[in-house]
Amino acid sequence: MHPFLEPYNYYFLREQTQLLAQTHRSVNDRSTIQAVRGLAFETIKEELSHLTQEELAIVMAIEKITDSQREVDRYLENLRLFVRPFKQPSEAGVKKAFAKTKKIQMPDWETIDLKEYSFYAWNDPGQQSKFILYYQNAKLQGLQGTISNEVKKGICTICHGTSGVSLFTVKGKVNKDGQYKTKGNYICYNSEACNRQLQTRTHFDAFIEQVKAK
Ligand SMILES: [Zn+2]
Repeated sequence: MHPFLEPYNYYFLREQTQLLAQTHRSVNDRSTIQAVRGLAFETIKEELSHLTQEELAIVMAIEKITDSQREVDRYLENLRLFVRPFKQPSEAGVKKAFAKTKKIQMPDWETIDLKEYSFYAWNDPGQQSKFILYYQNAKLQGLQGTISNEVKKGICTICHGTSGVSLFTVKGKVNKDGQYKTKGNYICYNSEACNRQLQTRTHFDAFIEQVKAK
């Protein structure tokens, strides 16, 4: 079977799995456990309603999860087989995505587990830059902006998780006064952590749309 889960689907399911196991470990009341399970299964089916019956059957093996860590590990290991990795771009592709930037530190793709990335982003602390690569309708896109080196605890606009965030600003169009309009968002300074917290593409797309809007 072909991979059918995006990395963010995997992280969503991982959280649901941990929630279920945690409930089984900490709650004694049977009806409460049943309620939590029912709600989790509903949420999963809704979030992954685009899957085929066969694919959904693999995901719904989550129904076997109780308090056993071994079961959790086994389930997640199996899910991982069906995760679609971030498609490794060519060097020319990356340069084209950041056409306005002269100095780009190329990611060392060989050392990166691409199954962990829904988008790929890295910082160039010397230039206070963040480079974000992502696919939109299968086309590679780049977004470069300034990332402050000052990290504080807050909510990230991309993954909606609480983590170490920094102000990310993107230069927009020049306005009437000859000044650049800039748009700022607090996002995870560490984009590996951001990917692990991203559970739906909707948040990421909304961020991109907001930043790119004229
Ligand atoms: Zn984030």
